Amino acid sequence: MTVYLVGAGPGDPGLMTARALELIAAADVIVYDRLIPDSALSGARADVELIYAGKEGGGESVAQVDITRLLVSHGTSGRAVVRLKGGDPFVFGRGGEEAEALREAGVPFEVVPGITAGVAGPAYAGIPVTHRDLASAVAFVTGHEDPVKSSSAIDWGALAAFPGTLVFYMGVRQLGAIAERLMDGGRDPAEPAAVVERGTLPDQRVVAGTLRTIAGLAASEGVRAPAVALVGEVAGLGERLEWFTGARPLAGLSVAVTRARAQASGLADRLRRLGAVVIEAPAIRIVPLDGPAPDLSRYDLVCLTSPNGVRLLFERLAVAGLDARALAGAQVAAIGPGTALALRSFGVIADVVPPERFVAEGLVEALAGVPVSRALVARAAEARDVLVDALRERGAEVDVLALYETVAEPLDEAQLTAVAEADYVTFTSSSTVRFLLESAGGDGWRLAGRLVSIGPVTSDALRSYGLAPDVEASRHDIDGLVEALVADASAPAAT
Ligand code: SAH
Repeated sequence: MTVYLVGAGPGDPGLMTARALELIAAADVIVYDRLIPDSALSGARADVELIYAGKEGGGESVAQVDITRLLVSHGTSGRAVVRLKGGDPFVFGRGGEEAEALREAGVPFEVVPGITAGVAGPAYAGIPVTHRDLASAVAFVTGHEDPVKSSSAIDWGALAAFPGTLVFYMGVRQLGAIAERLMDGGRDPAEPAAVVERGTLPDQRVVAGTLRTIAGLAASEGVRAPAVALVGEVAGLGERLEWFTGARPLAGLSVAVTRARAQASGLADRLRRLGAVVIEAPAIRIVPLDGPAPDLSRYDLVCLTSPNGVRLLFERLAVAGLDARALAGAQVAAIGPGTALALRSFGVIADVVPPERFVAEGLVEALAGVPVSRALVARAAEARDVLVDALRERGAEVDVLALYETVAEPLDEAQLTAVAEADYVTFTSSSTVRFLLESAGGDGWRLAGRLVSIGPVTSDALRSYGLAPDVEASRHDIDGLVEALVADASAPAAT
């Protein structure tokens, strides 16, 4: 079988190629490095064999001969093998050596180029590595070597004279020595220079200066690997062309997401796109309850109070061979836009959605003019009874259909510590509050960051644990929560 030498790009998961995603999804074996995007393997099959072949910054590494041997043996065993590397596999990735070994062993291979960090990192810092007026050439250089050792494979004099941009990989520790050698070789000490740390990632940092100052600046800012260093007139454009950080109001902030893993990705993706470093700490899990499909023809009103409820109601209907037509005779009410959207995905447009206040009280108000004699409320087992009570008070007969329950998802020490230290902790329901606090040992747990609540019910839950919400969304859905968080982070007082 073919072995695929695949580049995973510089870190932003959106910068993986379509071909890379396709091969990852089909792989039997993935041999991967440390510097691949966090989510790079999320599309892999559940039964894929994952083999880590990276090294911890400067520490023990899996010997290259062992990696090559591994590729050859899996490649000849008839399994689909992906060798996944950060950036591009043929740019300082030892992909060339692996390809040679595969050719020697008669194992067919394909190469899938990736976006290399030395181009993407600068691009995300607003630095074009070439420019019609400023740089007609670019050199990619390894900074790994000790520039003072006499056996250096790099001709520093020639590099100093290179007429264009110099991009150094793996050079954080040697930056001072690199700059010295270049200046010794005649490179202008006043030439712009920049370092891009964790380029394209939410917590990307850029340090800009000149060839003379850059090493000192990087050291005082505590720049660490992975980072690329750049020397050239183009580095001076970064300040003017900066786009990545500015478009990201949550850049550099850590935000904990406590909702169930199955629901977290939408919120987590939104926060990441706004620049946040997301801490996934699912404190709850949704457990569907078994039961028959309800006979919906008996009701003139069906109320749905969460997207989960919608999904599980339709699952029950499907098991009974039913679909959206089962709702044909009833008015359908949704507690908020998220629930209405979930209904829409099953082909149902909700008749009633509160215009604001997406909580039970808001739905009660929105239902004021709707005639009801028999209603079904499909929801979580442990939900509040506000809606049911209000409908009964109006003289309606109300059945409750409990579709799921919310249970605690245990969090480990590391997750709890990360939540305690996060800049923001988001709570999207009172159960996220209750189960997170219980997981952490209840009252007295100290959270350093600001607490963001989706609405009044969740805020009350926080208060019951002696915690005050710092931010409460005025729209009680995910959009509203994100909006409130961004407003808080952008307010001068918070910075
Ligand atoms: N094949 C990779 C490079 C591997 S060498 C590529 O094409 O990008 C590892 C070096 O790449 C790191 O020491 C660092 O210099 C650079 N690098 C990788 N990811 C980076 C990132 N997100 N930001 C800045 N530099 C990065």
